[in-house]
Amino acid sequence: MSRAVAQALMAAKRLLVVSHYDPDGDALGASLGLSHLLRTQGKQVWVYSAGPIPEEYEFLPGMDQVSDGLPPLKEVEMAALLDCHQPERAGAKAAEFLAGVPRAVVVDHHRGPVEYGDPAWVDAGYAATCLMLAEMALEAGWEISPAAATCLFAGLQTDTGSFRYSNATPRAFRAAAKLVEAGADPWAVSQQVYATRVKRLRLLARVLERMAVLAGGRLAVGQVSLIDLAEMDADSRDLEDAVEAIRGVPGVEVAALVREMKTGGVKASMRSRGGVDVAAVAIALGGGGHKSAAGMRMDLSLAEARELIISRLLKAMGAEA
Ligand code: 5GP
Ligand code: MN
Repeated sequence: MSRAVAQALMAAKRLLVVSHYDPDGDALGASLGLSHLLRTQGKQVWVYSAGPIPEEYEFLPGMDQVSDGLPPLKEVEMAALLDCHQPERAGAKAAEFLAGVPRAVVVDHHRGPVEYGDPAWVDAGYAATCLMLAEMALEAGWEISPAAATCLFAGLQTDTGSFRYSNATPRAFRAAAKLVEAGADPWAVSQQVYATRVKRLRLLARVLERMAVLAGGRLAVGQVSLIDLAEMDADSRDLEDAVEAIRGVPGVEVAALVREMKTGGVKASMRSRGGVDVAAVAIALGGGGHKSAAGMRMDLSLAEARELIISRLLKAMGAEA
């Protein structure tokens, strides 16, 4: 499948690269990494991203060319949808645009029904979309510039929790080695991505203080209101790592964080240590993700969402309320 995607991409001259809204390191690393790979091959590339860019990724080479504006539709021969496989995950504006693009390829490692993309290369066996793109470039024999290598490495590093999660497979390390050989600098990337952000630590302290612990310590659920964020002078980007910190508490098997969104409703993030399939819980509630990391948005109040998630997670864990 990687070869079919590479061939499709080579057939176009002007391409739009799109990933999911509220982009993370893999979405941005994949988008920018592919944009560098394609430009090296002489292509014209636009990179679209909706939602706020977390400050730790602002250093990625080419970030100044990422836009939440779209090019004229007639200019775009092909789109590449990355790190998600449903056009709606890219946001309503991009989804509408994608509906008019002549052809779109998809590269993604999330679970869920695949109904879009020609071809769609969706394989949850990969640790990161950046890993898929790195292997594709290596197999196709494309030149990987230091800029491309840096972006792809950053996405691979962040989606594997800095090569700590169960998805840090030999395959992930092999690709990482190739990317470092091609010019990615792990220390330079880490200083940007894992800088100590005092505001985030304060916010995390508040989340931990108020977290509900259930099922004898096996389930921990945090919540953050818009008022909390305002009081800490923080925003949703400052919560990216909080749910993983909750999961890290010894004894916790499943962690969830529900947060109120400025745009209305709540966003929920769930993490497991691998024993409980949180993607199944997310998919049943209209979201998606991976077995150990999944999420969804819900049109509920914070309290309602919290109750619903707790009951679904307790059920998935075979635990009593
Ligand atoms: P996070 O909790 O970090 O936002 O997301 C964890 C995982 O769940 C990611 O792989 C992400 O793509 C997926 N995910 C989070 N929110 C949503 C959502 O609203 N819809 C879908 N389909 N997947 C989501
Ligand atoms: Mn990803």
